[in-house]
Amino acid sequence: MIGQTSILVIYTGGTIGMVQDPKTLTLRPLTFDILYKYLPVLENFNCKIDFYTFDPLLDSSNMNPSFYIHLASVIEEKYEDYDGFVVLHGSDTMAYTASALSFMLENLNKPVVFTGSQLPIGMVRTDGRENFINSIEIATAKEFDTPVVPEVAICFENKLYRGNRTSKFNAEHFGAFVSGNYPILAEVGVHIKYHNHLILKPNFKKLRALKVLDENIAILKLFPGISPNSVAAVLNTKDLKAVILETFGSGNAPTVPWFLGQLQEAVARGIIVFNVTQCKGGSVEMGKYETSAGLSKIGVIGGYDITTESAVTKLMYLLGCGYSVDSVKQLLQTSLRGEMTV
Ligand code: ASP
Repeated sequence: MIGQTSILVIYTGGTIGMVQDPKTLTLRPLTFDILYKYLPVLENFNCKIDFYTFDPLLDSSNMNPSFYIHLASVIEEKYEDYDGFVVLHGSDTMAYTASALSFMLENLNKPVVFTGSQLPIGMVRTDGRENFINSIEIATAKEFDTPVVPEVAICFENKLYRGNRTSKFNAEHFGAFVSGNYPILAEVGVHIKYHNHLILKPNFKKLRALKVLDENIAILKLFPGISPNSVAAVLNTKDLKAVILETFGSGNAPTVPWFLGQLQEAVARGIIVFNVTQCKGGSVEMGKYETSAGLSKIGVIGGYDITTESAVTKLMYLLGCGYSVDSVKQLLQTSLRGEMTV
């Protein structure tokens, strides 16, 4: 776009715009006008900033695939009018939303920067002001008229992460996110240092927003002592199409016959079983130990170093695209948006 850079800020809710109810002391969302009042400095940016506010504003625990579709539709509709997008979002499920959007927005060639805060913007020590301002700056950054960060990212506490590589790991610290298997894309100090070699490159193709997500998935998190009844309850969920098996270490699980038998029977029914590690760093390596060799033999698919957040939303997306079970299995082992290292 020639002329002044323009950014669309999409306000969805979250702590960044919350205020404390003086009676109950619970936090509830503020309207955008009030939020904006705390950020007069936005006027000083050499770019045009417009706003889109969700109604109702949501705590991110209430977000779901319908919300992801709404958000993707807003970005698709406004895509040609803006150089970049900043999404103000609660941090609790931000990693899920950022992952979902990374899959849904195919051929994304502009920045979509998610941010939020741990303290409401009206509080003196808020981290929201800095997160918001850094995100605007990153969303406007260009080199030779091409956006520097043409991907879905999360900006939090002076760091820029690939969205589909993150997990929220701290409920208290300003640095709330971790990207255990991919380095940060940029660091904010006196200058913003972009690690260009780690950032996805634009392909200059037309944006396609895929707006069908299939929710018939489940997570089966293993723990020592898990019972046959709990495993059966998950695997026999009505209409289940895929299950994320959250395993130990490098993709390991019990070798007891009842467990492998139940999984084998689910695979035979056409259920996709996707092996994702419970660890925040490192990769699934099926066959490294005896405790994962049995899983590959019965047709469990290895998730390499994908996060659970990314696995959940990638499955919703692939199943929503209507691919066959075999194609979904193949695409699960392919990095589509830099979400895993194969
Ligand atoms: N509960 C809030 C939310 O996720 C927390 C936050 O904004 O950080 O919406």
